[in-house]
Amino acid sequence: MNNSALQAENMPQLIFLGPPGSGKGTQASLLKKRLNYHHLSTGDLLRHEISTKTPLGLKVQSIMATGNLVSDEIVIELLQTHCKLSDGKYIFDGFPRTVVQAQMLQKDVLTGANSLAIEFKIQMDILLDRIVNRRTCPKCSSIYNIKYRPSRDGNYCENQSCAGAELIHREDDKENVVVKRIEVYQENIRPVIEFYSKLGNLRQVDGMLDGEIVFESVKKMFV
Ligand code: AMP
Repeated sequence: MNNSALQAENMPQLIFLGPPGSGKGTQASLLKKRLNYHHLSTGDLLRHEISTKTPLGLKVQSIMATGNLVSDEIVIELLQTHCKLSDGKYIFDGFPRTVVQAQMLQKDVLTGANSLAIEFKIQMDILLDRIVNRRTCPKCSSIYNIKYRPSRDGNYCENQSCAGAELIHREDDKENVVVKRIEVYQENIRPVIEFYSKLGNLRQVDGMLDGEIVFESVKKMFV
């Protein structure tokens, strides 16, 4: 099925679960470009708060610098502010990370809407290599990798609409923080995955495969 044949009403709200570097952000960019999904990444929203030096940003900066999770109250409020389901289909990327967040998403945001939780499976030992070489566009959040998928434009984003934005190496993509983020993910995610498994809407993809192959597997889940 090609992209245009996919009816918007058949497209579920998508919840992406996976450790940093498992390919969630890459798939979210593709789904946004090709199927008009809204990409809602709580990590991106928090980084925006930090870069614009809001009171919330100042509060979470030191927590994020260590790789620990920000409180449920903060991320839930941020999500509610930035998500309006009447605007279309969303990808929740990096949210939920705890059962409290999952319950809130289900009860207060999705309220019965058709949704799928997709777990990105990946071997933990290759994550570090993926993330420390990752470079991100600060404008559109496109993800590159200096080893495996460098930008055609060197250290600048390829997307014309970003007008040559310089790619960044996120502070929390540096090795010592990444190790902690992976640990924190592993400590917290099991009950969240069980939550979706019990609901019967958990699916899995192999995050080690090429991005285009993963994209096709995700799309096939809609029909
Ligand atoms: P990410 O870009 O999704 O890897 O998130 C970067 C950082 O933002 C995480 O290491 C956490 O400190 C914080 N963060 C993002 N999303 C959440 C969330 N749903 N719950 C708690 N903390 C979060």
